[in-house]
Amino acid sequence: MALRLAVGLGISAVMFGIAGRRFFWLFRLISAGEPAVPSRTVNLARRAKAELVEVGGQKKLLQWTVPGLAHAFTFWGFTLLLLTILEAYGDLFQRNFHIPLIGRTAVVGFVEDFFAVAVLVSLGVFVAIRVKHSPKRENRRSRFFGSHTAAAWLVLLMISGVIVTLLLYRAAQVNTGNFPYGWWAFASHGIARALAPLGTGVNSVIETVALLANIAIITGFLVFVSYSKHLHIFLAPINVATSRRPRALGALASTPDMSMESVGDDDEVVFGAGRIEDFSWKQLLDMATCTECGRCQSQCPAWNTGKPLSPKLLIMDLRDNLFSSADRVLANNRATGQEVESLVPSVIDPDVLWSCTTCGACVEECPVDIEHIDTIIDMRRYEVLMESKFPTEAGLMLRNIENQGDPWGLGSSKRTAWTEVLDFDVPVVSGTIPADVEYLYWVGCAGALDERARKGVQATARMLHRAGVSFGILGPRESCTGDPARRLGNEYLYQEQARANIETLESAQVRKVIATCPHCFNSLANEYPALGGNFEVIHHSQLLDHLVSEGRLSPGGGYRGTVTYHDPCYLGRHNRIFDEPRSVIDAIPGATQVEMRRCREKGFCCGAGGARMWLEENLGKRVNMERTEEALGTGADVVSTACPYCMIMIDDAVRANAKEDDVRVLDLSQLLEESMSESAERTPQS
Ligand code: SF4
Ligand code: SF4
Repeated sequence: MALRLAVGLGISAVMFGIAGRRFFWLFRLISAGEPAVPSRTVNLARRAKAELVEVGGQKKLLQWTVPGLAHAFTFWGFTLLLLTILEAYGDLFQRNFHIPLIGRTAVVGFVEDFFAVAVLVSLGVFVAIRVKHSPKRENRRSRFFGSHTAAAWLVLLMISGVIVTLLLYRAAQVNTGNFPYGWWAFASHGIARALAPLGTGVNSVIETVALLANIAIITGFLVFVSYSKHLHIFLAPINVATSRRPRALGALASTPDMSMESVGDDDEVVFGAGRIEDFSWKQLLDMATCTECGRCQSQCPAWNTGKPLSPKLLIMDLRDNLFSSADRVLANNRATGQEVESLVPSVIDPDVLWSCTTCGACVEECPVDIEHIDTIIDMRRYEVLMESKFPTEAGLMLRNIENQGDPWGLGSSKRTAWTEVLDFDVPVVSGTIPADVEYLYWVGCAGALDERARKGVQATARMLHRAGVSFGILGPRESCTGDPARRLGNEYLYQEQARANIETLESAQVRKVIATCPHCFNSLANEYPALGGNFEVIHHSQLLDHLVSEGRLSPGGGYRGTVTYHDPCYLGRHNRIFDEPRSVIDAIPGATQVEMRRCREKGFCCGAGGARMWLEENLGKRVNMERTEEALGTGADVVSTACPYCMIMIDDAVRANAKEDDVRVLDLSQLLEESMSESAERTPQS
């Protein structure tokens, strides 16, 4: 008895000592990051809810039913099996130990055994999943491609060891008369039957050996976890609790002060992240928390089309760099002026950095709420603002925005040309917005200047006019919101654009804005407030839905056919506008909606976001081709969307597939208008 106590406590002391030292080191390392923006200590109620739903309820994991259930049972199992760890340590001191009050109840015995068995079954499922999706068999298609698979197998083995030794010593306890539970602990009693013929003496040895083995594996697992990707077992709840709420989508996390006063003569000011210690502590925590599950990778449009970017590998590479630079980070060596190669290209290849469309699929999917986009943009900011390095072709786009106010460089004088085909006047707001004009229609550069996107804007204008909605435009006073510059990393140009636009809107006394472009919508609604621009912004799909549901627009029989709706990333995932466009299509009597396999939260990018619209796409397959092939596969005769970028990208790919005679790409407003073409007499306004 004394020996097993000494061995049990000795093993535990050594293991806890090693793990404790490692966790303290990790704490210091992560704390060495910059302050997190926005603060992670506000919105406590939301954080508590996320903890309950995402960690306790395993919400994101359960979206993938089979692996989700296996993970949930393992998580819940390990949480409840904490009771058995308490019992194991109690048994070291007293062989017939039981937890006071509850330690002999049938329900506790049953729950412990049930979850022990459930964890074992779950481990079997994990093995099957890992074999099925083995990187060796599936190569890049495997979500585990690039993950540390050997460590994962070792973890599965260790968890199995914990459960097997647990059941063994409990079964032996049954036979030695030390087990506190009756037959409700079904698994322990079942195995006890098999061990009973060995006699009490052998069972007593099994009890001691299995108990000590159980403690050794659990504490050894603790040490292993502290040095492996399975750190997420302890870090995931903290990462989820400190993530941006409601989610790390929509606006970018930080809006650095780009004013000259903030920069001054201080050579130490760094914009973005050029070395690992430039990231915030939350970003460093993200890196340490990644489970290498590959869910993000499996959804990433860049990875799925053969580009070198995988959000998982990006986070893993940064984590490796964090750990290998730990001495420098902990010594705060920036102050000593030590020369360090910048993250790009020494850790992150430029092709990886510039492949991101900022679509948000990775952020949406990540079960531990890692904020990939903010990390990618921080590295882009450093490249652009500190090193003046970016793809050559982006230079033209940036210069055009700077000099002409739009990415194509067509100039402000062309911004009203789209109104010329309309049979009514659209007021151009030159001073303040007239009192009888309810909305300012923010047309956007693509909507005003691109031939195809204009059709969507014109149809929207006609729909608004028909429904009796009063609106005006800024015409030549409208300028690029700065979104492409911001997503490319040129925060300086973005803020210049944003401040100028805010001044224009405020001087025009605008309060309510309609946006057609989801990128403009996102900037105006979510990002301008950080610079003092607070407007009530509505996307045209929301307004059309409202007008249809109020009966101010009545879809008719002018369109008959099958429609598949493509979710623009900045409307759907980034701003949760999934239902309104679908409800407009549903209201068209002749339209049959068919969904693509990847839709709503799992929608696949068109390839234009993150300023990719203006960058060459020479690596792998074109993202718009991949998406359009999926759309064509539905057999729909109309691909509808609610974003000018998506319209252009998908239309290009339909033409590249020589399908333009069979399939049309239409903005939601064009589809609605077409449906009303034979029913004009039935609309309230006609
Ligand atoms: S935002 Fe989209 S493109 Fe960028 S890494 Fe994430 S999934 Fe890939
Ligand atoms: S970033 Fe998130 S989704 Fe991607 S591998 Fe890591 S834990 Fe999984």
